[in-house]
Amino acid sequence: MVKLQCRKCNFQFDKPKIPRRCPYCGKSNTILPYKTAQNYIDEVET
Ligand SMILES: [Zn+2]
Repeated sequence: MVKLQCRKCNFQFDKPKIPRRCPYCGKSNTILPYKTAQNYIDEVET
């Protein structure tokens, strides 16, 4: 399972793979792997 989050509505959910549409708001191409605060810190530092 992958932790995912919709960039549009910030809805978070788990799926085996990334769906085309957000199951909450129905927008397409808004789903990204969910990033924790630590992920953001790692990105800033690299
Ligand atoms: Zn959404």
